[in-house]
Amino acid sequence: MQYAVIAVFAVLAVLILVAVIRTLTIKAPAIGKCETEITKEDIDLCAQKLGDMVRVPTVSKNEDEDLSQFYKFHEVLEELFPNVHKTFEKTVLSGTLLYRWKGTDPSRRPILFMGHQDVVPADDHGWKCPAYSGTVIDGDIYGRGAMDCKSTMFVELEAIEELIAEGFVPPCDIYLEYAINEETGGDGAASAVRYLKEKGIELAIVIDEGGAIVDRPIGGMDRQYAVIGVTEKGYMDLKITARGKGGHSSTPPRNTPAARLFAFANEIEKKRPFKKHLIPEVYEMFRCMAPSFSFGMRMLLGNIWLFKPLLMALMPVVSPFGEAILSTTCCFTMMKGSDACNVIPKEPYLIANLRTSVHQNCEESLAVLKKYADKYDLEIEVIQARDASPVSNIHSKEYAYLTECIKKQFPDVGVAPYVIMGGTDCRHFHALSENALRFCPVRMSNEQNAACHAVNENVTLSALAEGVRFFKMFIKGYYL
Ligand SMILES: [Zn+2]
Repeated sequence: MQYAVIAVFAVLAVLILVAVIRTLTIKAPAIGKCETEITKEDIDLCAQKLGDMVRVPTVSKNEDEDLSQFYKFHEVLEELFPNVHKTFEKTVLSGTLLYRWKGTDPSRRPILFMGHQDVVPADDHGWKCPAYSGTVIDGDIYGRGAMDCKSTMFVELEAIEELIAEGFVPPCDIYLEYAINEETGGDGAASAVRYLKEKGIELAIVIDEGGAIVDRPIGGMDRQYAVIGVTEKGYMDLKITARGKGGHSSTPPRNTPAARLFAFANEIEKKRPFKKHLIPEVYEMFRCMAPSFSFGMRMLLGNIWLFKPLLMALMPVVSPFGEAILSTTCCFTMMKGSDACNVIPKEPYLIANLRTSVHQNCEESLAVLKKYADKYDLEIEVIQARDASPVSNIHSKEYAYLTECIKKQFPDVGVAPYVIMGGTDCRHFHALSENALRFCPVRMSNEQNAACHAVNENVTLSALAEGVRFFKMFIKGYYL
């Protein structure tokens, strides 16, 4: 018995020693200096052009609604990017824009850059300036859509505008796609995918919004990180109903429908019954981020082979993000009882919003909830559901090229893949490419990130100028 205990301790000691030695070999590359010189002319150009784009309030629309703001926006784009409009073939699919720049070698697979034209609504309440004014304050430009997603459109279009002026012609075809209803999950991007599919087009790489250069995504990191979204979680809305006889609340029976619903919600929230799993891409994210932490975290993240159980136990405790990256999440968002204070509801319901994981799709996540619902005699109805997107290949040469360009243009930041919790139009493009990647080469602070879809949305002008340089380099150097 004693020998067994000693043996266990000896093995543990050896494993920890190996982990320590491995950790000592994980060296963070020195934080490089960004050589790009941003001039006042660059800043003024970004302010003028993005300002003009923001001043058209392109709030999301379905294809059969009034699209006049979008057509006005198209005219603004023609004025701001004349070279693009002279050189590219433009197709308008009910407001959604699809452009094609013909390359010199038709045998090479085209690439596609994308974003979206639409914005979420905003009134001026709480803003430092009118919401659609594109006002510059201390080097940042404010306005709905300034970050999400007109900054992405701007850096892509401006890079190409300048390359055309320099006489550059790309080796492969380059497409651009900007839908009118990304924010409402509309059909714009899907219609563009159908259009390209009918033409038999396969894309080498797709780059959309979603990832960015973010400020220390996990506390304790020593640098900004360029995070590349390689997949996005699924989405499901459920209506969970309890049925009963109703009646007067002065003589309530046991186990009323509302109480059963609450007990169910309580148990789900406490138990969090979905499967926790570290997909290889999250594993890789931690591996890429490990060098920029101090010793303790570096040892944990750099030795997942040893600390996986500990990491998986800690992640959900440390932050809601840590849990969301490991498993399906379920959040109860709406509820309805009876219409009066003194009436027992006959069929109260809850709405649950789930974000399903890559490893436990909508059907499987629903089956988990059904088991608990049966226990409380509840019915579940699916309002809408879509599974997580496929996962892009982080070992492809296209992914490697993107990271190589990021390291060249932004030598002061780290690079890592990650999982998107929300949704982007990029998910539709997995049908045309195994490299559908979400990365906008624009630096954003945590405050700027939080201001997306909120008041005082803004983006830093010098960050936009850097983004333009990035795409110029990406397109000019593209050799795949
Ligand atoms: Zn967006």
